[in-house]
Amino acid sequence: MANEKIPYKVYLEENEMPKAWYNVRADMKKKPAPLLNPGTHEPMKAEELAPVFCDELIQQELDNDTPYFDIPEEIKEFYKMYRPSPLVRAYCLEKKLGTPAKIYYKFEGNNTSGSHKLNSAIAQAYYAKKQGLKGLTTETGAGQWGTALSMACAYLGLDLKVFMVKVSYEQKPFRREVMRTYGADVTPSPSETTNIGRKILAEHPGTNGSLGCAISEAVEVATTTPGYRYVLGSVLNQVLLHQSVIGLETKTAFDKIGVKPDMIIGCAGGGSNLGGLISPFMGEKLRGENDYQIIAVEPASCPSLTRGVYAYDFCDTGMVCPLAKMYTLGSDFIPAPNHAGGLRYHGMSPIISELYDQGLIEARSAAQTEVFEAAEYFARCEGILPAPESSHAIKVALDEAKKCKETGEEKTIVFGLTGTGYFDLYAYQKFNDGVMDDYIPTDEELAKYVSKLPKID
Ligand SMILES: *Cc1c(COP(=O)(O)O)cnc(C)c1O
Repeated sequence: MANEKIPYKVYLEENEMPKAWYNVRADMKKKPAPLLNPGTHEPMKAEELAPVFCDELIQQELDNDTPYFDIPEEIKEFYKMYRPSPLVRAYCLEKKLGTPAKIYYKFEGNNTSGSHKLNSAIAQAYYAKKQGLKGLTTETGAGQWGTALSMACAYLGLDLKVFMVKVSYEQKPFRREVMRTYGADVTPSPSETTNIGRKILAEHPGTNGSLGCAISEAVEVATTTPGYRYVLGSVLNQVLLHQSVIGLETKTAFDKIGVKPDMIIGCAGGGSNLGGLISPFMGEKLRGENDYQIIAVEPASCPSLTRGVYAYDFCDTGMVCPLAKMYTLGSDFIPAPNHAGGLRYHGMSPIISELYDQGLIEARSAAQTEVFEAAEYFARCEGILPAPESSHAIKVALDEAKKCKETGEEKTIVFGLTGTGYFDLYAYQKFNDGVMDDYIPTDEELAKYVSKLPKID
């Protein structure tokens, strides 16, 4: 059997690495809806976005037609330090499960940020530097994005101000220290340092903060500090574009070993790793060349795809950002404190939302405890301690492999293993102590937030 020859890890040679990012919007007949100006409800123009975002990133954000963007030489050089990431054949997992399924995962945790976020962080920092800016601002929840951006800014010599959701700032002091080691200035959010932060603190004294609040603070500082712009680690079209490097490498590696996956699974917070992983496969699907089953997995506590509505909404709590059409739970929705910090955003990438709405992607949700059970099972057999976020994808990959065992189907499954869980040991402790809870919002609770969506005609 040909499969016997497939190595544990499929690496690419330097000359096989992607030379351009792929923009899946170019192959979508119905495009994702445009960002709207929150005041006029008209599509945002490049000039209106310019005070917030870097110029070249705005072009990427608004471009629905160009299929490929060359990866600049400097970014390719940086990628070489930690890419290609391995495509791993999970032989041990298959054996332990006793499944005829063939399981692969693309592992993005092999860099200090411990996640795929560095792929877009270096790109965004590069365009800021090229524009001659002095620094950047951003928010971070779990801390992976803030860490990745700190690394990129340190490499290129840019200043960085990070607003870190207060509960994470307190619960993950080591993440904070990694960022500071790379030179970032880290402030717990909401803070007294911004107008919006002071307003939120006055209205909700003692709040733990949320991504939506931290975004508002970071945007305020970017737009009021000369030489600064704001960058975001997920949701936006440009982020999915940069993350396509994951899917392009995966596709090349599969082509190299002559394998076509049947099923592609990814966890979905803002949608960037999933969007990146599936991009070239989705391109084939959209062009009618090949078919793949694609599954997004989200936490049951923050179920934007499976229980949200597809509508225009604010991206942040302070309502200063453009409106995006997306599957959303409402910008006021603050998810129960679950431990997959990177999946706690109220909305979903407009690209993923549109593909889901067209029925090209399926979505499932998973409760916290079952996700950690999957994480433990995976860690004990494949050796890697997975991030709680990534473990949502593991959970569904295990479910599907078990189904194959029942039916005898030899499906090829690939999932995105987005990162490692070394900074999530507080969560693992809760799981190990048997005190993890599985809060799932009721329909009434969700309806309350959705009723406050902006009215767009
Ligand atoms: C941020 C993060 C995610 C979720 O973000 P997406 O934009 O949905 O990819 C998933 N896994 C890890 C490890 C993360 O850091």
